Amino acid sequence: MKIVCLGKNYRAHAQEMQELLGDVTKPLVFLKPPTALLYQPGPIRLPDYSTNVHHEIELVVEIGVRCKAVAAAHAWEVIAGYRVGLDLTARDLQQEAKRHGWPWTLAKGFDTSAPISRLYRPDEVDGEITATRLRLWVNGDLRQEGTTAQMELAVPQVVAYLSGYMTLEEGDLLFTGTPAGVGPIRPGDELIAAIDALGEMRFTVATG
Ligand code: MG
Repeated sequence: MKIVCLGKNYRAHAQEMQELLGDVTKPLVFLKPPTALLYQPGPIRLPDYSTNVHHEIELVVEIGVRCKAVAAAHAWEVIAGYRVGLDLTARDLQQEAKRHGWPWTLAKGFDTSAPISRLYRPDEVDGEITATRLRLWVNGDLRQEGTTAQMELAVPQVVAYLSGYMTLEEGDLLFTGTPAGVGPIRPGDELIAAIDALGEMRFTVATG
């Protein structure tokens, strides 16, 4: 399986990163290795080569069937369900990569950099997945809040876009971008990530 992630799919986050949004119909794409996955109870393990790992709460779409070039109107037919996810990012390594024009692989791909909740099947979704609130707390402080209605590419368009470039397979996970409010996490922190239509997940943060 593979983990395919969108960057800059929320305008407010792109602005806080001082990024030009560019053509919103063609967002930035990067991969995380399967070894980045982390299931509850964790913990998240911060790599010793970064001093600035950030939280990014994201809606994750799980693919249920091998597919290629799926039209947006048919995207729902290939979706197995959804998960709450965190796209943990070594921001210092990412900034260095940006300066050099390098890919973000090392900044985004460390072990435990992709914590995810259990799978919520489409029939378990409470409300509209395309207009549901995402929130992230660190030690009880609300740090990120947004709604999937703010996504530049909504869920069906994400599936259409990515499957236009590569075959998607059962079990593949699509991270759909983060709203504004990203910030650092530190050893001992307790994170709660919640998506109203799904549920919440909790992770603690440890050193590597
Ligand atoms: Mg992200």
